[in-house]
Parts: sequence; C-alpha cells; structure tokens
Amino acid sequence: MTSDTTEKHRNFDKQRDLPDEVRVENAMAGFIAEFGPRAQSWMNACVRCGLCAEACHFYLATGEEKYTPIHKIKPFEDAYALTHGPFSWLHGLLGRKPKLTIEELEEWEELIYDSCNMCGRCTLACPMGIDIASLVKDARRGMYAAGLLPDRLARIVRNAEKQHSPFGSPEDFRKTIKEIEKEYGIPLPLDKPKADVLMTITPEALENRHFGVASMARVLHHLGYDWTFCSDAFEATNFGYLSGNMELQGALTVRLIDKAREIGASMLIVPECGHAWGATRWEAAKWYGAPVDDIKIRHIVEVLADAVEDGKLECRPVGESATFHDPCQQIRRGGLEEKPRILMRALGMELREMDPHGLDAFCCGGGGGVLANERAGPLRLKAFELKKRAVEETGADHFVTSCNICEMTLGRDIEATGFGKQIESLIDLIGANMITDQPPLKAPGSGAKPKGVGKRAAGAKKAGKGRSAARRKPAAKK
Ligand code: SF4
Ligand code: SF4
Repeated sequence: MTSDTTEKHRNFDKQRDLPDEVRVENAMAGFIAEFGPRAQSWMNACVRCGLCAEACHFYLATGEEKYTPIHKIKPFEDAYALTHGPFSWLHGLLGRKPKLTIEELEEWEELIYDSCNMCGRCTLACPMGIDIASLVKDARRGMYAAGLLPDRLARIVRNAEKQHSPFGSPEDFRKTIKEIEKEYGIPLPLDKPKADVLMTITPEALENRHFGVASMARVLHHLGYDWTFCSDAFEATNFGYLSGNMELQGALTVRLIDKAREIGASMLIVPECGHAWGATRWEAAKWYGAPVDDIKIRHIVEVLADAVEDGKLECRPVGESATFHDPCQQIRRGGLEEKPRILMRALGMELREMDPHGLDAFCCGGGGGVLANERAGPLRLKAFELKKRAVEETGADHFVTSCNICEMTLGRDIEATGFGKQIESLIDLIGANMITDQPPLKAPGSGAKPKGVGKRAAGAKKAGKGRSAARRKPAAKK
C-alpha cells in the first residue's frame, strides 16, 4: 500500500493504484460481506426519527446535517437496499445494476472515518435499538477494500501488518523494555516461557509513557502476579478493528490469545486502551467460532478495582477533587462503568461527575481511529468544546481518565486550546499512591525527567494550572 496516489487537494485519500470501477466493486464486496442478519435487521428497522442526531458530539458541535449518525451510513444502506433489501428484487426486475459511484464513496470517506468515533452514544439514543457504531465499523470494511481511507491510518495499518505493531518490531519492543527497566530500576518480566498472566501494551505507552509502564508493572508486582510481556505478542491496539481490515483484526486478536495459551496463562490483561478492550474482550470469539472461555480477558482497570475490593490494594489519599472522563469503549460499550470510580474512591478523591458522564458521556473525539487521522483535527477540536465545558463546570482539581488514546487526544486538545487542565492517567495515580513494600521507582526521585511526562504535561503546564498528583507525590512505603 502506498500513499503516493493521494490527491492532497481533495478531502479524501486514496491508497493503491486502482481503477475507479475496481474501487467501487471492492467496496460493494466489502459491504455485502457484512450484510448478515444483524446488520440487515438494523437497517430494516430505522424509522428516520432523527433522535440519534442529538446524541452525536460532531453534530452537536457543528450543527451540520451531514454529521447526523444515520447519514454516516448512507452508502452502506444504499448498497444494502440495492442488493439485499426488501425491495432489491424490484431493482433486479427493472434490470437496474446495483451501483454506487466513486464520487459518493470519496465524499463519504470523511464521514465514515473523520466524523465517527464508533463511540455508540447514538446507539443508546435510538428507540429501535440500532447500533450505528457497529454499522459504521461494518461499512469501513468496504472502504478499506476500496483503498479509500485516511493516509495516516493506512500507514499505521501497514506498519501493524509488516512489523508486528505500529510501534515497531519485537526487537524494538525488547530494546524499549530493557530501557524502561534501566530508567526506572524496575524488573519487567519478558518472554517467560510460562506465566499466569500475559500483559499487553499500547504503542503510546512504549513511545511516550515509560513512567506509566513502570507504574503498571509496580502494581502488578505488588499484587503478586506471575506475569510477563511477550515480544512476539505485546501489541494491544488493533488497527484492523479501526480501519476495516478484518483480516488484520482477526490476526492481531488470535496472536494474543494463542500466545496466552502457549505460555499457559489463565489471564490476558488489556492495558489502558478502549478499542483494544472491545476487539479483544468482545470480538475474540468471532475468530475462533466459539467463546474464548479458557483465558480470562480483563482490563487493567478491572483488575485493579477488583484488587481494591478484595482488600489487596490500598492507596494513600490524594484528597482533592477530580472528574473522570469515561472512555467510550471501556464504559458505554465495555461494561466497566463502576471500576474506575472504585479506584477514584480508593485514592480518596472527591469525585465530581461531569454532565453528561458514565454511559452517557461524550467521547474524547479521538477514538475509532480519528486521532490517527490528521485531517480530522479541526473537527475534533470543535467537539472538544463540549468536553471542555463539562470539565469546567465541575470545578474539579484533577481531570483523570483510563485510556491512552483518550489521554493523548485530550492532551493534544488541551495544548491546542490553552485549556488550563492537565489530563492524568488513573493507573499512574494508583501506581504513585499505592501503599506497598515495593521499592519506589527510580526516576521520580533521581532528578531524571521521566519519559512520558514529557510534551503533553509540559504543554499543559505552559497552558495553565495543570498538576499531576501521580508525579507530584512520590509513592510511599508502608
Ligand atoms: S458512534 Fe459516536 S461519533 Fe459515531 S455517529 Fe454515533 S455518536 Fe457520532
Ligand atoms: S434514532 Fe434510530 S430509528 Fe431514529 S433515525 Fe437514528 S438510527 Fe434511525
């Protein structure tokens, strides 16, 4: 795949040198592959009530009709009506060939990739129970097959295919893990032939959040897990899931689960990431044709919250107020609503909820591959205004979340708008404030600048009054 065919002056990108008619055929084939009973029943059920519009942050932030959720699946719906819909026989009778046009698909690229986070807020609003977020995901399959997706997202997909992870190869991973071990003076188990727990990680953590990796490891050591990273199965994010490359989505999930089985793990932990949770926890069965019930797939937030409830994890009280940004894929679509709140209470923070919050919260605006798409930046910033207002209204001291993508998105938006808050990682806060016999991390007390505290935090401080309790207070020994 190359990006050299991109027509930069247009509001769409193209990959591969394909004739337009082949792109259309590929798109149709991709759509048709998704017209199973689930998608069909949803598309037949829409009564065009428009209630989903008021749920979408992109529509609310712009007022532009094209950003209404139901409009975003229009070519997908048209393809369905022509080929599988209740009146598709009539098109056949009239000799009408099922057809979309390349112009429609090109125009649509922005709607399907730039203006949808697959956050599912519209899904909750729909009285007919139509899961538009899933239909958008289904529709991306056709767009990927047509070579019509944002270039940067396409490049990340290619890296994930060719070198194991958007971060790099297994060799790159091994080197980085060794660097973090040295930097923070903490053992990071790697490539153990047998372990009870396979821990996975995000590229963002490996690139920019070494402090977070060390914190997470320290908590796992404290809890006494027999755990390991594996250099041939470390990548938690799934850019197949985000782009519509279904083969890649399946391969990435199977790689993790097969590895967990190979090392005899009973648990696979998904790190601070939202869509990784959806892809691994909720869609794994699809690739095996059966539930994956021999491995517990658990989110790090869930593991820590359960440890708090079991009395195995205690924290020194931070004692300030905080508001929590709910990552859509963990909370609304992931079933973990209460877990981060248990952790906030364990930190002794006064939780000031945003309006809306929990299942109803607004997306950060970067999920669903939107952050990977530079072209979507201005639209994302408009949607950020909704989140910014909601945070301001709480008057909370801290702004906390539990997803690397949300943190990165909100961090960039904070920097771009000069909003006087710093976004903080819940896991970092736990790591820094837990009561433990584990030795403290080397870097915070050594004067060395921890990687990952870097640009975003520095930017937030420059912008205003951001403070991080994780980094301000070194962890105490019991
Ligand atoms: S899934 Fe989220 S971003 Fe996509 S249309 Fe629905 S509300 Fe909007
Ligand atoms: S809320 Fe549901 S039924 Fe109404 S327009 Fe949106 S998808 Fe269709």
